[in-house]
Amino acid sequence: MDTRIGFGWDSHAFKPGVPLVIGGMRLEHHSGLAGHSDGDVLLHAITDALLGAVAAGDIGTFFPPNDPRWKDADSSIFLNLALEEIQHAGYGIVNIDTTLVLAAPKISPIAGDMRAKVADLLGVDLDQVSVKAKTPEGLGLDHVAQAHAVVLLERVRDPEDLKSMSAVVQSQRELEDIVEDLLTQVHGVPKRRTIVPAFDTEDIT
Ligand SMILES: [Zn+2]
Repeated sequence: MDTRIGFGWDSHAFKPGVPLVIGGMRLEHHSGLAGHSDGDVLLHAITDALLGAVAAGDIGTFFPPNDPRWKDADSSIFLNLALEEIQHAGYGIVNIDTTLVLAAPKISPIAGDMRAKVADLLGVDLDQVSVKAKTPEGLGLDHVAQAHAVVLLERVRDPEDLKSMSAVVQSQRELEDIVEDLLTQVHGVPKRRTIVPAFDTEDIT
């Protein structure tokens, strides 16, 4: 299969006196989002969309909310794990579309920055990420922030494409495993390949 689609949804209640973090950005607001981690509703929805696209479970599978290690955790950790999962499965991101639903603060003035931040965290170009925001009209849910995310993945055919992913997947070992898997698929048998260092060590003086 060449393409796969994933969907993620999340919600967190607002809580006074807690830092508000959405899309990896700290936002000025009197309340934050309650949660075991930093409560980043947008990154959680994207994480679930990525995991769902490769049928790898959901965020709770990997990061149980009762595990003290994830108390107040930066949600980019969850996102990175999901990126590793899709890369292990041999896929890359085509695009991601998201919708935030919250009464306040207003997202539109910072939607561009948030989009850039999410693209940066995902290691993709700006035009591969969309961040939209709506208010929860008629839902009576002004005390809650919700996020919806849809992601399209495509199979990575050219191992060269994986080079651009290496900035996100920081483990060179995992990257090598992915490349080997791809080479095995192409050639039918495992082939050794030359390991190119991330930088030329000779240049470091
Ligand atoms: Zn969440």
